[in-house]
Amino acid sequence: MSNKITPATSTQGFFQPKPTILNQWAEDRAIQRMAKLLLSESTLAARDAELTQFADDVLSKEVFKNIVDAERHPPYVRGDGFTAFGAPQDADALVTSAGWRYLQDFGLREGIVATGSAASLGPEARIVQALKVHLFAPSSSMVVCPSGMQDGAVYVLQKELARNKTQPPTDCPPELHAARKKVMETALAHLLNRDPSKAWTSGQWMTERKGGSDVRGTETIANYVGPAPKEMGTDVDGNPLGPWSITGFKFFSSATDCGCCLSLAYTENGISCFFSPTRRRLADGSIVMNGIRIQRLKNKLGTHALPTAELEINGMRGWLIGEEGKGVKVIATVLNNSRFHNSGESQQSTALC
Ligand SMILES: Cc1cc2nc3c(=O)[nH]c(=O)nc-3n(C[C@H](O)[C@H](O)[C@H](O)COP(=O)(O)OP(=O)(O)OC[C@H]3O[C@@H](n4cnc5c(N)ncnc54)[C@H](O)[C@@H]3O)c2cc1C
Repeated sequence: MSNKITPATSTQGFFQPKPTILNQWAEDRAIQRMAKLLLSESTLAARDAELTQFADDVLSKEVFKNIVDAERHPPYVRGDGFTAFGAPQDADALVTSAGWRYLQDFGLREGIVATGSAASLGPEARIVQALKVHLFAPSSSMVVCPSGMQDGAVYVLQKELARNKTQPPTDCPPELHAARKKVMETALAHLLNRDPSKAWTSGQWMTERKGGSDVRGTETIANYVGPAPKEMGTDVDGNPLGPWSITGFKFFSSATDCGCCLSLAYTENGISCFFSPTRRRLADGSIVMNGIRIQRLKNKLGTHALPTAELEINGMRGWLIGEEGKGVKVIATVLNNSRFHNSGESQQSTALC
């Protein structure tokens, strides 16, 4: 028996055929079935070419090269030397890989977030968005995680602007109402922008050392201190900074490279939700962090390319969103929107078919 077997070598003997990933929009019958079930014939016909091209692009050499770069070069915090424990000293900036930035820009240009609010798609916008999220996620090195929070922030700000039409804000004096509205409209324009040089992702800062599931243990405090003094500057667009000053420590914050954040903090009336830009512009034109310092990045088992940080917040200026003391209800919109993105990213959506 043994005489009939030719011993295997590194190049001879049995080899399993290499799997080839084909265009998932054309190839994956489950996605096709779902799209046919949930989209009108006219939308499907109008979007077919775009989705075919997109499904090719996420498998392109350029995208794969950048996935490899993002995974090989995890983000780090630049510092001036190291402390005795090996942490960066006087950490002053987050450094992400070229691959991460490429993939984030790719997702922004492709409208991974903007598609969900595309007026031209009407009620079908979320379905087309979910298809794009599903096709992109495996090629994204998890830039789709910040996208989910960015999309959630869009929802929160849209809801707040709509609410203020009948319920004017009570968190600041009437002379700040117009500025407050402009801050939110400007932020929405960033969050929905497909031009990466103008677009913002958003952080969602809930989790603290006491735990993430139960935010009653929040140790971040927000105080109403009134309009920001001139020396604090403005937001990067020249709008005034919010009249609330937020101080605390956030223990697990992804999208550390975001342009804005929604965070939870205690006021005298309970846990409330605040919107803040992450950067301020000073009178001399320089851009500084809005009272935010990256303590360190998390060393995670997975999602290595995604910058997730511990953040020290000291006097971050912000605007109250929703009613004071009802912040969990407000930020739950971001959680629920992230759930929508997560199910689009996973196989769940196709398994349902
Ligand atoms: C990769 C990554 C990225 C993250 N990014 C962010 C981010 O951007 N922003 C942010 O705010 N957070 C972020 N988090 C934190 C995440 O949201 C929290 O881990 C999550 O909310 C759970 O909180 P915890 O880890 O403190 O666990 P805990 O809340 O301490 O829970 C531990 C265990 O106890 C269980 N448990 C808790 N409470 C109860 C209860 N009342 N009854 C029964 N069981 C309970 C939980 O199910 C869990 O099994 C991130 C986490 C990871 C891993």
